[in-house]
Amino acid sequence: VRVEQCDVLVIGAGPAGSVAAALLLKQGRQVLVLERELFPRFSIGESLLPQSMEYLEEAGMLKAVVEAGFQYKNGAAFVRGERYTDFDFRDKHSAGWGTTYQVQRAHFDQVLAKEAERQGAEVRYQHTVIAFDQEAATPRVTVRDADGNEYIVEAGFVLDASGFGRVLPRLLDLEMPSNFPVRGAIFTHIEDGIASAGFDRNKIRITVHPQHCDVWYWLIPFAGGRCSIGVVAETKFLEQFKGSETERLQELVMQDPASRELLKNARWDTPARQIVGYSSNVKSLWGKGYALLGNAGEFLDPVFSSGVTIAVKSASLAATALQRQFAGSAVDWEREFAVPLKKGVDAFRTFVESWYSGGFQSVIFYEKQQPEVRRMIAAILAGYAWDESNPYVKESKRRLNTLEEICS
Ligand code: FAD
Repeated sequence: VRVEQCDVLVIGAGPAGSVAAALLLKQGRQVLVLERELFPRFSIGESLLPQSMEYLEEAGMLKAVVEAGFQYKNGAAFVRGERYTDFDFRDKHSAGWGTTYQVQRAHFDQVLAKEAERQGAEVRYQHTVIAFDQEAATPRVTVRDADGNEYIVEAGFVLDASGFGRVLPRLLDLEMPSNFPVRGAIFTHIEDGIASAGFDRNKIRITVHPQHCDVWYWLIPFAGGRCSIGVVAETKFLEQFKGSETERLQELVMQDPASRELLKNARWDTPARQIVGYSSNVKSLWGKGYALLGNAGEFLDPVFSSGVTIAVKSASLAATALQRQFAGSAVDWEREFAVPLKKGVDAFRTFVESWYSGGFQSVIFYEKQQPEVRRMIAAILAGYAWDESNPYVKESKRRLNTLEEICS
């Protein structure tokens, strides 16, 4: 079998993988990215948060993203029955970007991967990582190419950015169940036909189901009159709906009168899909010779669109740690990578749990909210979950509990 060498092997060319590759190239590392699929390929996770812009910028990818012409995004709107409230991310507590994009991931991920290649990464498509040998002095990874040929890569370090593929968690028995109940999503892209002047295409629209506060819909406008639409609920709730995925999604969407009215001229031209049980966790985010990025580590829940932001944040933290490691320092991966990453993830977790129990919904729909509290909430919703100058980050549980009591 052929044996190759590289400084860093990245598994997966999603946002985590491409951003990590670019950051490592800037340090002068030789980076090999192995991607199982041929791009462009569909992926879910289309509404970005402004915090992610910082990492796209750090990776030198911002110009390519801006020039790709995606739908501009400046906030999030929430709807429950007659109630409507929105947050403008430019009016937020934390410093940094206040706007971002809503992206078709097939195109977005391809833009990032091409940018990583342009910067000097070698990206091999239809090359699947199938085994990982941790016992060797440096990690040895077995790869299968599109023709079924296998070869080995010896890498100075391996970053697993394989997303829902969860390559190393599976191969190294790192999987741990998530604490969240098993939920699923049914979703598609539509020609939305929305004429209503009151509809703000610059914001993701999150609608709470009229009867069930733990069931919600997303409507993510794209450039060019199209939208991503989806519903999220516990799988046992979704199972009541019969028929094709498109019929089930339509039936669910029509249960909300405002959505029914908004989408009365929509053209449902793309078959819907379902994904279930996506929440996941791991025993450890790193081990000898490797670290887990983005969704290959923990995935919480889609409600606050935090996935891509966490993915690129993890890429940035890992690249910083690797710079020290390649310079000969002893890196404490727990202290320098896992702990700081989990800080923000845990802040998001507090808000996700409170969303599903209904508490955070009473906070966002509360009409007498103090402006500075709204700006702190806006910062979290914009993805600034690592900014400890925000009390809702630093002491998220205690602060949110107090706020819930005031608002309920
Ligand atoms: P991915 O983007 O999944 O990329 C991983 C790559 O690795 C893939 O290209 C895959 O082909 C490749 N791969 C897998 N296995 C192998 C292998 N063995 N060898 C080589 N390559 C491999 N996030 C948001 O930010 N905004 C949203 O609005 C949002 N909505 C969501 C809605 C739903 C219903 C769900 C489930 C998630 C949502 N997310 C959202 C989360 C988002 O999808 C992910 O967090 C994000 O895609 C993670 O990026 P990543 O780079 O870690 O992995």
